[in-house]
Amino acid sequence: MGIHMDTEEIINLNNFSEEYDRNTNIDNDIEKVIKLYPAKVTSYLRELIIRYPSTVGRQFLPSPEELTSNGTDEPFESGKHCAGVHGLERVYRDRVIIIPVFDCPAYCRFCFRKSRVQRSKRPMDENDIKKAVEYISNNPEIRGVLITGGDPFLDLDRLDFLLTSLMSIDHIYDIRIGTRSLLYRPHIFTDELIERLNRFNVPDYVNPTKSKSLAINVHFNHPDELTPEAIRTCHKFVSKGIILRNQTVLLKGINDDPDTIITLFSILIRNRIIPYYLNHCMPVVGSDHFRTSVARGIEIMEELFKLSSTLCPNYVFATEVGKVHVINKEVLDYDYKGDQKFIRTRMVYNPDEFFRYTNQNSLPGRHYIDEHGCIIGYYRDGND
Ligand code: SF4
Repeated sequence: MGIHMDTEEIINLNNFSEEYDRNTNIDNDIEKVIKLYPAKVTSYLRELIIRYPSTVGRQFLPSPEELTSNGTDEPFESGKHCAGVHGLERVYRDRVIIIPVFDCPAYCRFCFRKSRVQRSKRPMDENDIKKAVEYISNNPEIRGVLITGGDPFLDLDRLDFLLTSLMSIDHIYDIRIGTRSLLYRPHIFTDELIERLNRFNVPDYVNPTKSKSLAINVHFNHPDELTPEAIRTCHKFVSKGIILRNQTVLLKGINDDPDTIITLFSILIRNRIIPYYLNHCMPVVGSDHFRTSVARGIEIMEELFKLSSTLCPNYVFATEVGKVHVINKEVLDYDYKGDQKFIRTRMVYNPDEFFRYTNQNSLPGRHYIDEHGCIIGYYRDGND
């Protein structure tokens, strides 16, 4: 897109950690954490961390609590080899995920890509993108593409090439870009960049089934993140007609109470951002201290249900065999293995389709097919 990031603004905490939290004892444990899970923030985010250490700071600063062994190192392998194309993933019938870059300008400590292995994966090159586009072109049941990461806005030229290629596919009508850049570097979204993104919104007034839409999935977890800069940028998007949907991760000690979530979602609504997902924090190694129980999220949802439905997102957890929408506690079926608590759940997805789309011939982990031919998914719960 002809607009390049000033890489100087990205600060690698591997060398600068002592600058960020003078209250944290930067000792051997932190060194160990950073060796396992790299750390970095942007200069803009640094100011927010200093202002809000217990809400924004905790999401980005390495902590000794990350030195645990519970959870999965590299979760969600399903779908990664669906067509043997680097950066293309598929689990569902109607949509695929494309990851043009695996890196981010800042690293959230609860991220499922927090390991060094995940962070160092190479970006998709032009050939990968062409192959991904070819795969999608040959599978007309695919209607949507989620471009995520990493942060796709880390490489604007690559993103532009990908978007342009996808727009040439007749049966793709729903493109979403997942990014947290509106939090950690909102200033990159110039009028020019937003204009360029908006050219991928193509309404067809005569035949609305042919309309194409590009939307942005933003990621705000706490009201402290909704700075004037972030809000101004959100308004720039929506005033151009680009839909913003927010994904919030439920984080212990940061937003796992109804008041915080209600405040967050109320501000989002007032600023024309749709509360879209409340994601239960994934069972990734080193993230245990952020993980509440799934039931805690339901208690928060129950408070939201008493208010306008505009405030109610989809509350989900993600297993390796697809995501699960949770609505009430009564359906949680617990299963224990040692001291670990799992939630067993009947998935809505068809096993044959799962095998076909993911290009696998067996289910991962503890998941199995029951006597009715349904996939039974397992999800490791957290603790309050
Ligand atoms: S922005 Fe998303 S992909 Fe990047 S570190 Fe945070 S959670 Fe992970």
